Amino acid sequence: MSRYQGVSHFIGHTPLIRLQRLSELTGSEILGKAEFMNPGGSVKDRAALGIIEAAEAKGELQPGATIIEGTAGNTGIGLTVVGQSKGYRTVIVIPDNQSPEKIQLLRALGAEVIVVPEKPYKDPGNYNKVAQRLAGERGYFWANQFDNTANRQIHYHTTGPEIWEQTEGRVTGFVASVGTGGTLAGTSTYLKERNPQIASVCADPYGAAMWSWFKNNNLETNDGDSFAEGIGQGRVTKNIEGLNVDEAYRIEDQVAFSIIQQLRREEGLFLGLSSGINLAGAVRFARQRGPGQTIVTILCDSGHKYISKLYNPEWVGKSSLKDLPLDSVL
Ligand code: PMP
Repeated sequence: MSRYQGVSHFIGHTPLIRLQRLSELTGSEILGKAEFMNPGGSVKDRAALGIIEAAEAKGELQPGATIIEGTAGNTGIGLTVVGQSKGYRTVIVIPDNQSPEKIQLLRALGAEVIVVPEKPYKDPGNYNKVAQRLAGERGYFWANQFDNTANRQIHYHTTGPEIWEQTEGRVTGFVASVGTGGTLAGTSTYLKERNPQIASVCADPYGAAMWSWFKNNNLETNDGDSFAEGIGQGRVTKNIEGLNVDEAYRIEDQVAFSIIQQLRREEGLFLGLSSGINLAGAVRFARQRGPGQTIVTILCDSGHKYISKLYNPEWVGKSSLKDLPLDSVL
């Protein structure tokens, strides 16, 4: 037994970074959990590890098995990184509207990548449904991140306790956007068990149903669209089921975009748009509650995956987004 550990041991235990400008603006500590520092570069390494280890424990994954998943990319990257380290092959089904960087990275890592046209969940051609069907036809293990609650369990067992320890119990609110809902549900369930006063807050992009679900108990999505990848859920997944939040906000892409540009220019943080959505939610919550809060959110992945889009002036120029200063949008 070596005193040193392989790569899966280093998923999680990410730093908690103070966002200087946002903290100053609100008079609260706005803290971001640096999930982009995970080995596969995103918060989804945790879910990948949780799903794989739960399946191993139940005897559902045999050595040399193939794992298949429908993913916006990050879960696929996590499953491939963890899979390579444990001897599993991965087949990743991804919709064609995701950033080319994620598809290139998946192929470079050694995953078999199947790119499918973007289709709504109810359509049999939806990326998730294709993964489920191929799993049945080819005898692969389907990770099923949306409805496999090993996903929220890993956040309950790791992300929640890490935040509690890193803030020495001072955390007053936890904010997250929802892809599968694993991060929001698992982390806030743990934190509320430690202290029921800790608020659970959902930051939702336009065109997703989670804001309407938590606020009005319906799944209305007809209010716009978002460029954020990896989030924007239209149904109540098994990972979200049973979760009650204290507050939910609709977040405009423009606010999230100005936040990630300010962080790049002034704080040396290079992030994807879902991190901006989360931080915009943290600012809304800080302002609603007033100064003196300690609010934690997730820095989900890095800007490297979006250089051809969010950090490409040509792409930005053709989009509805503008490089507006933070003060003008917050
Ligand atoms: N941000 C990004 C960039 C993601 O890839 C994901 C996961 N799809 C999320 C946020 C949301 O995480 P969760 O699935 O735990 O809700």
